[in-house]
Amino acid sequence: MGDTGLRFGILGSGSRGNAALIESGATTLMLDAGFSARETVLRLARLNRSGEQISAILITHEHGDHCRGVVSCARQFDVPVWMTAGSLSAMKDDVRDSLDIHLINPHEVFSIGDIEVQPFPVPHDAREPCQFVFSDGDTRLGFLTDTGSITTHIEAMLNGCEALVLECNHDLGMLRDGPYSPSLKARVGGNLGHLDNATTARLLRRLESSCIRHIVAAHLSETNNTPELARAALARAFDCDPSFIEVADQEVGLPFRNISEAWV
Ligand SMILES: [Zn+2]
Ligand SMILES: [Zn+2]
Repeated sequence: MGDTGLRFGILGSGSRGNAALIESGATTLMLDAGFSARETVLRLARLNRSGEQISAILITHEHGDHCRGVVSCARQFDVPVWMTAGSLSAMKDDVRDSLDIHLINPHEVFSIGDIEVQPFPVPHDAREPCQFVFSDGDTRLGFLTDTGSITTHIEAMLNGCEALVLECNHDLGMLRDGPYSPSLKARVGGNLGHLDNATTARLLRRLESSCIRHIVAAHLSETNNTPELARAALARAFDCDPSFIEVADQEVGLPFRNISEAWV
């Protein structure tokens, strides 16, 4: 692992908990805090990191799989937490009362240490959900999970990124024929739910492809998708070998990747 340039690793991805690390220079951001502090520390250790190295926590939205550990992690690591006013309004009082909160305007770029953060709003069934593009001024990393449908704004934000972490929540056929109740199927598959493999593949096809060096499928459903299906859908869209597409899973996440190093 190099120590220069923008790099990222994932502590875990899926409906049982989400957290990722984005680093540049001396700055380490934790994106979402979907695991308890205890669990987060164990997962950080797998990536050779400790809580003391975290500079700040960013929260995408208030669903438990993204903020279950926000209070315990922010207190234990003694770091500020960034989120939208809508997300904050949906959380328990102890978040507002006990943490150092910085509010995000989801249309305004901001910086934390060496990393520039461009938030953007996404359609999802939460108060004010947003996703992010991270940059060190040289390369860009786009994250997109927990999104029910693709907007032209999302497309514009992700265009030109060298690395993409994209939700592949479900396969449409597996969701349709699977065990979920009709109401849960409607929620997950709806415009404010989660992205399916084919929709994410269509998005990928529309993005400028020549700059893309890393594609990671994330937030896969363990019931309504398989890593093979997600990989195959994105590989067809990007016209690459399926092995180029990595899958961030719930247990193992993803080891660190240096964005300036091509993954081939
Ligand atoms: Zn989620
Ligand atoms: Zn969500």
